[in-house]
Amino acid sequence: MYSTEDHRQALRMLAAGDSLSKVSRQLGVSRSALRAWRDDGPPHQPHRGECPRCDSAPLDEGAYASLLGFYLGDGTIAKAATYHSLRVSCDRQYPGIVADVEGSILRVRPRSSIFHVAAPGVVIVHANWTHWPCLFPQHGPGRKHDRRILLEPWQERIADRHPAGLLRGLFHSDGARVANWATRAVAGEPKRYDYPRWQFSNRSDDIHAICQQALDTAGIPWRRSSALHTSVSTRAGVAALDELIGPKR
Ligand SMILES: [Zn+2]
Repeated sequence: MYSTEDHRQALRMLAAGDSLSKVSRQLGVSRSALRAWRDDGPPHQPHRGECPRCDSAPLDEGAYASLLGFYLGDGTIAKAATYHSLRVSCDRQYPGIVADVEGSILRVRPRSSIFHVAAPGVVIVHANWTHWPCLFPQHGPGRKHDRRILLEPWQERIADRHPAGLLRGLFHSDGARVANWATRAVAGEPKRYDYPRWQFSNRSDDIHAICQQALDTAGIPWRRSSALHTSVSTRAGVAALDELIGPKR
């Protein structure tokens, strides 16, 4: 029996142009074994689980932060017979956001198959996996605004490191950049002033708190402008959020 490392090293040497005889001499592997390896290719990888929580698989934290935002905004997790289905509803008029949701899913779980379900005005992005509840432990029965939505400590650490991704997911799903304007008389002439602001709309106070914490982390001033809304309305705050998350498109 030869080790997997012998196998890999032999393939590296053969690929680099070393002869069977030389590799056989250096590694102490028979020429017939080398020929079989050369013809069969690399050894099989031992099976590795894909779940960052159960199997310690690597997690792209930036992509996770944005997917967390999309999930908290317009996402749900539904249980099927043998897996869970992550579904994010996207406004059909923003194909860039649909692509962003898909890209975030693929960076979090590279083997995902993604499919779309069309409904009036929306595209629902679906991806099925048994481990979505590990990554989104906020999953539970009923609607998100009828239950507590608290981040676990490992999620809070990711949110602290990646506020831009989290804010992009939140504001691009449940937010809007609202263009307000007013006229004022300047030297007797009416002059138009624009007051753009970003507004996050959600029925869950817990999700507002997560949004507000991410804005604090990013140093962006906000106020709870109504029961449904957290607003960013200072000129500098709007500019900073524009820079961090980009437009909805
Ligand atoms: Zn898991």
